Amino acid sequence: MLFSQIYLPTLREKPAEAEVISHQLMMRAGMIRKLSSGVYSFLPLGVRSLRKMETIIREEMDRAGAQEVILPALQPAELWQESGRWDKYGKELFRLKDRHDHEYCLGPTHEEVITDLVRHEIRSYRQLPVNLYQIQTKFRDEIRPRFGLMRGREFGMKDGYSFDRDEAGAEDSYRQMFEAYSRIFARCGLKFKSVEADSGTIGGSFSHEFMVLADTGEDAILACSLCAYGANVERAVSHLPVVGNPEEELRPVRKVDTPGRKTVEEVTRFLDIPATRLVKTLIYQTPQGPVGILVRGDQEVNETKVRRVLDADEISLAEEALVEQVTGAPVGFAGAVGLTILLVAEETIRGMKNFVMGANEQDRHFVDLNWERDVPISRWADVREVQAGEGCPRCRSPLSAYRGIEVGHVFKLGDKYSRALKATFLDAQGQEQPLIMGCYGIGVGRTVAAAIEQNHDGDGIIWPLALAPFQVIITPTDVTAGSATFETARSLYDQYRAAGLEVLLDDRDERPGIKFKDADLIGIPLRITVGPKGLQENVVELRPRATKTVQRVPVPQSLEAVQAFITRELGKMS
Ligand code: ATP
Ligand code: MG
Repeated sequence: MLFSQIYLPTLREKPAEAEVISHQLMMRAGMIRKLSSGVYSFLPLGVRSLRKMETIIREEMDRAGAQEVILPALQPAELWQESGRWDKYGKELFRLKDRHDHEYCLGPTHEEVITDLVRHEIRSYRQLPVNLYQIQTKFRDEIRPRFGLMRGREFGMKDGYSFDRDEAGAEDSYRQMFEAYSRIFARCGLKFKSVEADSGTIGGSFSHEFMVLADTGEDAILACSLCAYGANVERAVSHLPVVGNPEEELRPVRKVDTPGRKTVEEVTRFLDIPATRLVKTLIYQTPQGPVGILVRGDQEVNETKVRRVLDADEISLAEEALVEQVTGAPVGFAGAVGLTILLVAEETIRGMKNFVMGANEQDRHFVDLNWERDVPISRWADVREVQAGEGCPRCRSPLSAYRGIEVGHVFKLGDKYSRALKATFLDAQGQEQPLIMGCYGIGVGRTVAAAIEQNHDGDGIIWPLALAPFQVIITPTDVTAGSATFETARSLYDQYRAAGLEVLLDDRDERPGIKFKDADLIGIPLRITVGPKGLQENVVELRPRATKTVQRVPVPQSLEAVQAFITRELGKMS
């Protein structure tokens, strides 16, 4: 492709609204343009990277035995009513009506549609397993669309669904997809971790997220420094030393003055105790009414865990007025004693004795409280956020914290959708059984953006070769027709293309400095500079974008050198 002909509007300045680097650089490198909030157009350079990603996905899905389909984005409400998600999905679902007033939605995901497809076709266990996938546009009315392609309202996703006759089959399908995903992200040249996204039910954990490691990631991850354990902080558990001394005598409870002391810090300093001696009571507003969550003074609540424990989507810390209404005291003195609301206490602090807690009275706290005697708890659960440095639940080595971008998610669904939609088959005994499902998603645009988050410098993008829109850019410093420089550049261009390379020839009549800047910005992995000085000795310069080190190569050997570079780079990724 000739630079002068490609539709590639670069920007010198970073766009004001672009908060993260991938968004800034995709805009500046002329890959994407925004149409409206969370909705983007792809320009030729953007499409090229997207297609690379899709090709890797297709190759690995096909290799793992999955088959490609294309399912409609426009989906009738009836199907979603049948699964129960028409009401449950909430505001993220784009809903619309046709001219006959029939309701539809734009698919945010395709469990309903795929289950409908197979329930009409699959009759017998002999037709199983089946694994179908598509690469298609999804629609989600995200509450906060942001970070460019990272969280869009219209975005490309590869979604796949497996159907098996039993649990063992489903686990096998899951494992194959897990391995395919690992290969996909490795081939993209990304540093990633696959982490547990679901705490183990019987038989282990059945949901993993694939996280590209990047400081700007929205997700927090904890991973073991020694073994393979890793989990989203929303699911992470740790090995903690036993809390409390079983020998400790229970002391009689007292109520003490804590004038103006509200925070854990203020109260513990005033009472001269460590934070591990205090239990804090956080009041949450939930669909079931106010709920008290109890954790130790030095622990933090993880709201996703609370959501799971309460089986509630919408929870939030109670406003001041509600706290006062529930506890009868100003914020800062809440305690569980005497409250009639549901109380859920963190399971790891069951052994605490003689602890401090707010007394539901202004400027007063209880001292030497004890669970059964003073604060009976009906619900113990994992509600706290694991911190870096705590022990790995498997091997006890310290856990490290990372930030990650969730690019893929594999999930064992079981029979949730097949039961709701009556997708059954006859087993070998002629018994009717629900299909056992798994679902598997990859954000295509998000992965491309994540690759930039992980691979850039002050000058622009540094594409991993596998996702680069072009592999090589040839930059002649002179584009006068008939000049040795331009004619050599053009003949290398023809030669490379004939060899199957993806080449951009910068034939623009611009100063070399401008061309070099653009090449760095759009991040093509290898630049070949052709200039009159080098040609006097019949050499061109090879400059990898990542290392910026220049290597002089005789013109007749340049193709070989470029091919060797590409082979080396791709080798690093597989
Ligand atoms: P998140 O927690 O980031 O909202 P999710 O759990 O809703 O993600 P899934 O429903 O599992 O995501 O979707 C599968 C994949 O699609 C995700 O792993 C992610 O890569 C991608 N994805 C999800 N939502 C978006 C979005 N709004 N924009 C771009 N990609 C997305
Ligand atoms: Mg989401």
